[in-house]
Amino acid sequence: MSEALINALKKIKLECQRVIPEKPGFARLMAAETRFAGPAYSENEDIAPVCPVCGEKLSFVFQFYPQSDQKALSASPLLVFYYCFKCTPIGSENEEPGQWLIRSYQTAAPEKFVDGIGVDTSFTAFSCQLAKTQVLPDYETIEEKYPYIAEMCEEVDADDPLGAYEDAGLEVGCEMEPFTSIGGYPIWIQGEAERTCPICKKIMDFIGQIDSQQEVQLMWGDAGCVYLFQCHEHHDQFGMEMQCF
Ligand SMILES: [Zn+2]
Ligand SMILES: [Zn+2]
Repeated sequence: MSEALINALKKIKLECQRVIPEKPGFARLMAAETRFAGPAYSENEDIAPVCPVCGEKLSFVFQFYPQSDQKALSASPLLVFYYCFKCTPIGSENEEPGQWLIRSYQTAAPEKFVDGIGVDTSFTAFSCQLAKTQVLPDYETIEEKYPYIAEMCEEVDADDPLGAYEDAGLEVGCEMEPFTSIGGYPIWIQGEAERTCPICKKIMDFIGQIDSQQEVQLMWGDAGCVYLFQCHEHHDQFGMEMQCF
């Protein structure tokens, strides 16, 4: 293994939180925590979101706190993700809006929780455990943004530079396969995607990805993954991309 490649990867790897489904079931005390399915975190005035295309209620899938950037003064809000499993939007910009949705709560707390919104009984509610881990960009991103690293991988294995990259990534302690995570780099299934903010037209930040989770009975197409984005400035502007094999 090339020492230079290892050192280059150590410089660009990022920390993220791995989300691990822990225990099935839901209890009011965990209403505002990071978790899968069951009743969505909701407050007094909230109404159940409905899909504008099929008219069915959206299903609550997952809620989490994005990694706060160092400069932020306040804690990050709870983000609650809903999705229409009848229309299965992939998040493209020409899709009719409202087939998926993220609601944001600045001061979520179990005392303010109102039960009954977003429940989809085909899923199993799960509490989650969070574990710090490290990730690297996709190889496609490496080729585009870090060409010197792609060159090193080609030097290590001209026939299989991606294999060389993955081996080196594992060696520096990074996860190279998609998993449900908060922060870090997206690990793509079908290759790089980005979303732009409809207001400022800037490329949104990646905030997390929701993998297919067997325990939860959650499956995106064929073992796919959902990627979530947020505008750095306009915090109520979100993007989504669903990719599967
Ligand atoms: Zn629908
Ligand atoms: Zn914006």
